[in-house]
Amino acid sequence: MADLLGGKGANLAEMTVMGLPVPPGFTITTEACRAYLTTGAPPEGLAAEVGEHLHALERAMGRKLGQVDEPLLVSVRSGARISMPGMMDTVLDIGLTDDSVAGLAAWSGDERLAWGSYRRLVQMFGTTVLGVADEHLSGALRAAKQAKGVTGDLDAEDLRALTATFKDIVREQAGREFPQDPREQLDLAIRSVFESWNTGRAHVYRRAEHIPEDLGTAVNVCAMVFGNLGEDAGTGVAFTRDPATGAPGVYGDYLADAQGEDVVAGIRNTLPLHRVADLQPRAYEQLMRIMRTLEEHYRDLCDIEFTIERGKLWMLQTRVGKRTAAAAFRIAEALREEGVIDADEALRRVTGAQLAQLMFPRFAETATTPVATGVAASPGAAVGEAVFDSATAVRRAEQGAAVILVRRETNPDDLDGLIHARGVLTSRGGKTSHAAVVARGLGRTCVCGAESLDLDVANRRFTTADGTVVAEGDVISIDGTAGEVYLGELAVVPSPVADYFEGRRAPGNDALLQAVDRITTHADARRRLEVRANADGDRRVLVERLILAETAAEREAALAALLPQQRADFVGILEEMDGLPVTIRLLDSPLHEFLTDRTALTAEVAVARALGRPDAPEKLLRAVERLHEANPILGTRGVRLGLVVPGLYEMQVRAIAEAAAIRVRAGGKPRVEIMIPLVGDVRELDIVAARARRILDGAAAGAEFPYEIGTMIELRRAAVTAGRIAGSAEFFSFGTNDLTQTVWGFSRDDVEASVFPTYLAEGIFAVSPFETIDRDGVGKLIADAVAAGRAARPDLVLGVCGEHGGDPASIGFFHEVGLDYVSCSPFRVPVVRLEAGLRRRGRRSPDEFASA
Ligand code: ADP
Ligand code: MG
Ligand code: MG
Repeated sequence: MADLLGGKGANLAEMTVMGLPVPPGFTITTEACRAYLTTGAPPEGLAAEVGEHLHALERAMGRKLGQVDEPLLVSVRSGARISMPGMMDTVLDIGLTDDSVAGLAAWSGDERLAWGSYRRLVQMFGTTVLGVADEHLSGALRAAKQAKGVTGDLDAEDLRALTATFKDIVREQAGREFPQDPREQLDLAIRSVFESWNTGRAHVYRRAEHIPEDLGTAVNVCAMVFGNLGEDAGTGVAFTRDPATGAPGVYGDYLADAQGEDVVAGIRNTLPLHRVADLQPRAYEQLMRIMRTLEEHYRDLCDIEFTIERGKLWMLQTRVGKRTAAAAFRIAEALREEGVIDADEALRRVTGAQLAQLMFPRFAETATTPVATGVAASPGAAVGEAVFDSATAVRRAEQGAAVILVRRETNPDDLDGLIHARGVLTSRGGKTSHAAVVARGLGRTCVCGAESLDLDVANRRFTTADGTVVAEGDVISIDGTAGEVYLGELAVVPSPVADYFEGRRAPGNDALLQAVDRITTHADARRRLEVRANADGDRRVLVERLILAETAAEREAALAALLPQQRADFVGILEEMDGLPVTIRLLDSPLHEFLTDRTALTAEVAVARALGRPDAPEKLLRAVERLHEANPILGTRGVRLGLVVPGLYEMQVRAIAEAAAIRVRAGGKPRVEIMIPLVGDVRELDIVAARARRILDGAAAGAEFPYEIGTMIELRRAAVTAGRIAGSAEFFSFGTNDLTQTVWGFSRDDVEASVFPTYLAEGIFAVSPFETIDRDGVGKLIADAVAAGRAARPDLVLGVCGEHGGDPASIGFFHEVGLDYVSCSPFRVPVVRLEAGLRRRGRRSPDEFASA
């Protein structure tokens, strides 16, 4: 019932039902919180119900809230459906008043404890419930400790005086008395927990964790138990397995004579959990039993908070514990081996995102401290020379140096530098800045928004907050997983998981690799989606010649020179991929992408002319000017190139056909799929496909090979007319990058840095539509196109080849919509195998989605 009771409340209830020792209490639902947050007032009837359950609690304890002798105190604790540790409020010791503090002293036999608790309540209540700035109170506490001299230990009398001071501060700052009515304390604390759903840090946390804004928190009211009643008391946290590595065994920390938060706060040194066996043997044995029971019950790693009061164990919280990515794999596999869960369940216990995390290199443990921190924008660990512009990055990289590109921010002109760098560091921008997005796409490490760095690009250096100057060529290390920057070279530990997937390492007896191996292999057996890899090539120099051609003869010569090059490329690819389908996309990029920057070139020509030099690149400049486009993404590219540049696509198809024929004659089994990009109308495809067929069938003389001709769906018009296009296409591949651009009308290179930060902050979308498929818009078009395409051609093969293909959060959609395969960048393949395995087999009818 976590939706209604929150995770903590549901698990407290469950432990109570299981007969475990949970202090009596009750839970106010998330529904009440939502009502409060919408109307600004507690829902009708809440006060009466709280009264009723408080009575039940009091009966169970045989004491009354805040009664003067032996007072009953309660904790008022937040707890949402999804755990948001430390983000919302909890107030302990509700019920202590000027009168009941004496009762607590008598019951506990400890004046100091009673006044210490009261002092703490006034502080906690003052800050969290009444909104007093903590510095006033902690300032008074510091002053009191200083007045005590060297030890700073406050006795009961000091604490009594300090409590009085605190109450004065609360009166001055909050304009009201610290309430002396226990029920009023309780009601105000409940409200404050409701309101803590909306604090700034809670918003930030939810945005980062993709937790919906409208869940609300439950409120748990729970009888206080005291871990601070002396040496036979204490408090601790425990895990049923190691949450860092997943290793078996019981882990945790314990503090004798302490309460609640003290363990996590790190005020005193904690003891490892197993030491409790000596201190509190009976409670320890019971705790071990309970931990086994909980693991059996939840069939997973549990994390537990407990308190021992006068030798008696109390369970204060349990939940299925958070864990590192490595632990997730090890624990899932261990539980499967123990027969607690089956292989399907083990697969469901991990995610593609966790696997992705395990595939990056990291820095070895080090004592070095970072010189700056920024946003952990693209994971990994990179070491290299700092360089301050793209051209230098390219030049040094080509000389064999490892470089880190350091910029205030990057823009599309830095692409070449980003490609050549090991990592990128910027002083401005967040997770959706250009640098971050491009780095993630390229698999480069990125730390961005390291604002403490003072960048002096003109002088090629930056200065850290402590005044260290890093000049061009100095070695730095950046940790894109943690968002940290280090001076000098840190040792990098390659990822064993990446090594395993790239075939450089067998699982051996490494428990993590065995788990990864078992689980991904099981995913392969389960998944319906096929997984392909994207590959890119570079024929820039040759294409440049084609572009420079000013006459038909020059163009034909350029094409003739390109043909053997392309044929050799395809022979190599088809040989490597023998027997497997290879989709070859004909030239797609706007031609200007192959040319030098216009401004730079104009300047160069002007200088050369002025100096009367004969070698001015006039012809190149003419070509650049001829091909310059205002909107190149919407200009002469894709199938339009094939139609307006005579002979271009024919040359590419001929190269493919001849390569396939060569492979057949060599005994190979080439499987060629020719893909026409940026089609918007079936007639574009028809013209290009007819020419291609003539060439393919002609070249096949003497060597038969199967081929298919299909198209990309990356324009809105193509999606809308998919039924007609399917009449001429044997397959569709959804190019979701361009489709997202054209459906939203977003020029990606422009809006990602300038518009998206605002859109994300305003909640217009929770994640960039270039990162995770926009189901409602782009996704709807895909679903409709799938339905129309399959209706026209039942055996139409459907795939996706945009960056979304590698995004774990989008795989579910591609599966649901009935695609046959996902194509993604090579280093994403294992992640996609895993995510695809998490989906059920069996193709759902696309009609179910078409009109959804
Ligand atoms: P959070 O969700 O932030 O961890 P909790 O609800 O767990 O907040 O409470 C904070 C601390 O107070 C915990 O360490 C818990 O052990 C302690 N605590 C909560 N309720 C009680 C109680 N009834 N008796 C003793 N300690 C408590
Ligand atoms: Mg807790
Ligand atoms: Mg495209």
